[in-house]
Amino acid sequence: MLDPKTPQQLFAPRVRLAPSPTGWFHFGTARTALFNYLFARKNGGKFILRIEDTDKKRSQKIYEEDIINGLKWLGLDWDEGPEREGDFGPYRQSERLDLYEKYLKQLLADGKAYYCFCTPEEIEAQKQDLISRGLPPKYSGKCRDLPPQLVAQYLAEKKPAVIRIKMPKTTLQFDDLIRGKVEFNLDLLGDLVIAKSLREPLYNFSVVIDDYLMQITHVIRGEDHIPNTPKQIVIQEALGLPRPIYAHLPMILGPDRSKFSKRHGATALVEYQKLGYLPEAVVNFLALLGWHPADNEEIMDLETLVKKFELTKVQKGGAIFNFQKLNWFNNQYLRILPKERVFNYFADYVKKYPPPFDLSEINQEYLNKILEIELPRINNFSELFQTCDFFFTKELKYPPELLIWKGESVTNTQQALTDVLNIINQISDEDFNRINLQSKFYTFIDNHLEYQGNRGKLLWPLRVALSGKQASAGPFEIAEVLGKKESLRRIKEAINKLEA
Ligand code: GLU
Repeated sequence: MLDPKTPQQLFAPRVRLAPSPTGWFHFGTARTALFNYLFARKNGGKFILRIEDTDKKRSQKIYEEDIINGLKWLGLDWDEGPEREGDFGPYRQSERLDLYEKYLKQLLADGKAYYCFCTPEEIEAQKQDLISRGLPPKYSGKCRDLPPQLVAQYLAEKKPAVIRIKMPKTTLQFDDLIRGKVEFNLDLLGDLVIAKSLREPLYNFSVVIDDYLMQITHVIRGEDHIPNTPKQIVIQEALGLPRPIYAHLPMILGPDRSKFSKRHGATALVEYQKLGYLPEAVVNFLALLGWHPADNEEIMDLETLVKKFELTKVQKGGAIFNFQKLNWFNNQYLRILPKERVFNYFADYVKKYPPPFDLSEINQEYLNKILEIELPRINNFSELFQTCDFFFTKELKYPPELLIWKGESVTNTQQALTDVLNIINQISDEDFNRINLQSKFYTFIDNHLEYQGNRGKLLWPLRVALSGKQASAGPFEIAEVLGKKESLRRIKEAINKLEA
């Protein structure tokens, strides 16, 4: 390992994403990842991924994989971390226990931390007593000054213990790049438990050691960590470690301005992957959750974001998660990204999240044709399977009345569909495309009085016969994708439906 005090930190920022693998990669954590990434790339620094898996009960490998896959999907490459070993590893806290032990022992030896043998019942009773006297409920400090012989004896007896740090009874200030000066009264906190044992450090402690040893210069994380910051600073100071620069990102709020949660919709990145959003759109949307560029430009790829991003311009107030806006971004990217790229994304998507249809007879070319006509109409890939199921199934379920154009009769509709059959039969298999269909139909309409000025009479039943839907893309486009044979079959089926 390198000497943690190399002058490198003076000019090249080192930032980290430090997720706990205790749940699916959260959208908020993805936003934190992106802001760290943008800050590092903009300033020629390093972006580090550190897996905070000290909570053995709740940490799971599958969640770690989900974080890693999520970051890769978003295109947020980390410079050091799992799969990309650097000079400051290991990058999983569960593999760094010797390091934490060393610093815990140092604090104990210096009398800055101590073993506490109070039972949970005693602690609860102390708290209740303080509350009943109108005082803040904190640890009383009972074990702070136990005689060393007694501590040694208790430890030898294996009396259950935790390790607490001595909290100064002062106020503490820190500068936050986004929020300015933040002040805390440490006296309200009481002596904090920093480890359950020498091999079981708790979050606030291991973070301090790792941020120091990994030479983290800027701690950029969610606002929900603000209450942890004074605790971490106290630990740093007890060990004589330098203080990183802090930047706490605004909370993500739901449309009702309460904390963004499952109540509002999907909160895990993987759920957006399942719904078929594009990574470009998600990155762009995430970037604007709490920040916007000076020129108010909206559509920005990762490269542009790196150029424009400024950490100090991140807002203090909560950032509202607007689902319509995410849909808008995704729809924009479906239109503006190179077709090939969208087709590939879609092919991957279908492989990963197979729709509830039998796709065995459907080839890539057919899928691409569907995409071509439907892209401007959908917000994400999963919508395609909901609103355009007629491309994937031959059994259309719609009531026969839907075929009837407003004010028309069943007989007229049957006639219209028979006309449709005749028109289509005039087009050869090779010429069966939207342009020829349109020209043949329009010529027919021009020559038939009953359809002049009332194209719907002919085109509505055609469109419904092909799609079974109240609303869909235009009939010529759908027919082209389905092909002549299947289009004719559907039209005949519609005629039968009307007869029944
Ligand atoms: N492990 C913490 C979490 O997942 C983050 C730690 C930090 O950023 O300081 O919330």
